[in-house]
Amino acid sequence: MKDLKHLYFFEKLLDDANNELVRAAKDEGRVCVGSVCSLVPEVLLELPGTFTVRLRAPRTGSMEMGTYYLTSFLCEYSRALLERAIEGGYQFLDCLIAPDACAMINRAVENMELLETMTSEKFFYQHMEVPMKADDNGLSIYVSECKRKILEPLHEVYGIDISEEALRKAVENHNKVCDLISQIGEFRKEENPRITGYEYHMITLASYVCPKDMLVEKLEETLEELKTREPDAKKNWRAKVVMVGSEIDDVDMIRLVEESGALVVADRFCFGAMPGREVIELNDTEDVVTQVCRHYMYASQCARYMNSEKINGRRAYERMVGSHVLREEYGYPVLSVDRPYAIGSSGQLRTRVQAFVESIEIKKIHKKQGGAK
Ligand code: SF4
Repeated sequence: MKDLKHLYFFEKLLDDANNELVRAAKDEGRVCVGSVCSLVPEVLLELPGTFTVRLRAPRTGSMEMGTYYLTSFLCEYSRALLERAIEGGYQFLDCLIAPDACAMINRAVENMELLETMTSEKFFYQHMEVPMKADDNGLSIYVSECKRKILEPLHEVYGIDISEEALRKAVENHNKVCDLISQIGEFRKEENPRITGYEYHMITLASYVCPKDMLVEKLEETLEELKTREPDAKKNWRAKVVMVGSEIDDVDMIRLVEESGALVVADRFCFGAMPGREVIELNDTEDVVTQVCRHYMYASQCARYMNSEKINGRRAYERMVGSHVLREEYGYPVLSVDRPYAIGSSGQLRTRVQAFVESIEIKKIHKKQGGAK
């Protein structure tokens, strides 16, 4: 397929946490709100005069300092973030909101605070409590935490407008970008998709790490371009897969998987679109914060937010057991990977994905011949 017109633009944005659009928004005097988890409602960090950046540590190399403070028991994502903070890589932030969710990320942010890694004069940290269950009691805690730990500090420290009108405007802008990304994502459902998983996730990831309003024009143009884009006549993939996990912010990994024959046509991870890029519907009768919190609470697929209502009579499993159950009880081919933070060029992963794709093909042949599944 012909390269997307804005491919290089989106790729460049992912090379650096303090990317071109972040710098442009800061030059306009906007407040940059950092976050580290999907459970901090992203839309509440995008008020008029603010924008949000979900922390990443692109081009991570050594994690020695991060490992010194967090030990090698903690995941590489949390260590990479701390390492980058100690190096001074997040000085563009004006505040950082962390939820009491993944314990490893909590430790990373606590250490950023203890080590005084952020030096801007009015910088503040907030640690939100996130309810364990999605129910009415959980919702009232969530609403109260969002008000006390996000909205009120932004108003008190930076004078940000947190009125209902400002919140509705934030939801409207957020929805515009989500709608564009969802429309682009629809092309993933085609028999021979005209967009690769790599391209789609690059666009989606950019929307987590840049001021969203500054992406609208490029997203609109990309959507128009896709409407007439011709996919390659000869399929260059051998299996379609869904990528599932938590903090996957490495588009190079998705490219590696696709180069190995598996086209990523759906996702369920914290920097992805299902959930994450669905439109938030507001009614006119309730306050916006309650509606936003309810949306995040019930849309979230995070293990932290699972309860019996959400799994609707089925069972929920942690990853190791889940991949076994999917394979053995439901018959899905599953490849379960423990990966380092940046794995983009791993020969080992390439070999594993290739073997996985081959195993799917062999199963299909057996099935056609009426053999075992
Ligand atoms: S897995 Fe859950 S707690 Fe962890 S970053 Fe994702 S949404 Fe947050």
